[in-house]
Amino acid sequence: MREPEIPRELCVPEAAGRCRQCDDLEQVFRTNLFGVLVIEPDGRFAYVNDAAVDLLQCSRELFVNSRYHDQNWDIADINGHSVPCEDQPFAKVMATGQPVRGAEYAIALADGPRRYLRVNAAPIRGPNDAIERVVIALEDISESFHARRHLEQVYEWFRLAQEATRFGLWQWDVDRDRGQWDVVSWQLLGHDGDQASTVLTYEDWLQLIHPDDREAASHEFRVQLQSGDSLSQELRYRRADGRWQWIQHRGKVVSRTPEGQPLMIAGTHTDVQQLKEAEERLRQIAESIEEVVWLRTSDALLYVNRAYERIWGRSRELLYADPSGYLEGVHPDDRRRVETAFARAQQTPVAFDETYRIVRPDGTIRWVRARSYPVDHEQGRTVGTIVDITDAKKAQDILERRATIDPLTGLWNRSQFDIKFRDALDRCRRYHSPASLILLDIDHFKRVNDTFGHDVGDAVLREIARRLGAILRSPDALARWGGEEFVALLPETNIEHAAGIAQRLRECVCSRDVETVGRITASLGVTALRPDDPTTRAVLRRADSALYRAKAAGRNQVVTIYA
Ligand code: GH3
Ligand code: MG
Ligand code: MG
Repeated sequence: MREPEIPRELCVPEAAGRCRQCDDLEQVFRTNLFGVLVIEPDGRFAYVNDAAVDLLQCSRELFVNSRYHDQNWDIADINGHSVPCEDQPFAKVMATGQPVRGAEYAIALADGPRRYLRVNAAPIRGPNDAIERVVIALEDISESFHARRHLEQVYEWFRLAQEATRFGLWQWDVDRDRGQWDVVSWQLLGHDGDQASTVLTYEDWLQLIHPDDREAASHEFRVQLQSGDSLSQELRYRRADGRWQWIQHRGKVVSRTPEGQPLMIAGTHTDVQQLKEAEERLRQIAESIEEVVWLRTSDALLYVNRAYERIWGRSRELLYADPSGYLEGVHPDDRRRVETAFARAQQTPVAFDETYRIVRPDGTIRWVRARSYPVDHEQGRTVGTIVDITDAKKAQDILERRATIDPLTGLWNRSQFDIKFRDALDRCRRYHSPASLILLDIDHFKRVNDTFGHDVGDAVLREIARRLGAILRSPDALARWGGEEFVALLPETNIEHAAGIAQRLRECVCSRDVETVGRITASLGVTALRPDDPTTRAVLRRADSALYRAKAAGRNQVVTIYA
């Protein structure tokens, strides 16, 4: 094998032999940038540079006495299919007389992985146009080949993922206002995907959005771009068939100007139609129920239904703007309690259950029962319900009143009085707390009924009850004992003091005429509770005896029994 030499044909003709260009070319071939083989038509190697020897990993001697066809290079295409000698570039150039450009092959080396080569081959023709030699240039593309393979694999995964999840891709060159959607993006809107090459301007994009959403979408888009790198919106887009389709688009700013203005945004499209429909069904339910339902995080209200407006008489928008604004509608007497309980429920994962009053802007009052439940304490998510219990509360109040209040006079009835009475006797026995009892019976009341009728009798009872109530203090308990008999329990009052109060009660009955009827008098029996009284009945018996004595002594008087 000769030392590398420049084929004669490559020399400038008039400077045959060693010339400057030959020297330069020889330097080029020695740079090892690419392998060069020059082969005679019969397959003998006329020239092989070091790079080629290296790339093909065989000794220089191998080329000296052998021909191209004698080599047993294991050559395959890039898919690994073996390429026989007659299909290799040298044979092809010889057969067709045409150059082979950019053919890619894999060559199996003795001790390692395949090497990937890009091959260019061209004929060198003599004066009679016959092929005199074939020059072959080899370039090692193993590295880029592996990189490309990897890229192809990644793209394949991506394509499979896209096929399975049907997310579309979009990008927008902000500066030039040129956007593009991929095939899947268009397919999501029922198009065939031919539009994938269409350039979309910002305005084109807006035109695809439902007219009702357009302004808000555009505003929101710009707000999100200003506040960060990420975008996310759910919008109704026009489908090919004219219907509307919910699509979520997400995006990210991928490049910016040095001043920070977005240059390129890229993102995805996802079909959220079913999600939106499910959401809409839930929303319809939530909007039509009477109870308030809400969902919030520790610092923001995520949702509240329309029932809030009905109960509070205030707009939801105000509450979204200030989630603690509901407190303004809470009755001042309940506000602090509600606020404290709510704050506690926010800090620890405890449920909240409070009954309180709402004062609406028109002054009307509603009773509500509010409950909340932590759903995700880590994120501070809480859901709650508020039920208007005004009607139930009213009914309950009426029942409670019925159970405790005498309907004719509005005083306590006997059963409610009994509770207080037992309590006072208990305290007397335990702590020797003084307490007294006064029993009052209207004199000759039968006559009132007989003379003026039962209704007038009722009016007299109401008037007497009012007069008695005006004399007594708040810890005193006054009740209608039955018929035209009244009873007063005076806690922390000894019997002398009680006798004085009884006199004032007697006077308040007889001192002024009662309308229609004229003068009314009453007789009163007074006694004190004693630690050795076994029951309230024992105390009552004494008071009753005192009253009896007052009647017997001529009525309109107070009789006191000490023991
Ligand atoms: P006395 O001075 O001895 O007490 O004579 P009296 O007529 O008041 O006799 P007594 O206390 O036995 O009679 C009570 C009467 O009060 C009987 C009943 O007609 C009348 N009365 C009881 N409850 C009511 C009531 O709710 N409304 C009216 N109008 N009358 C009642
Ligand atoms: Mg009586
Ligand atoms: Mg009487």
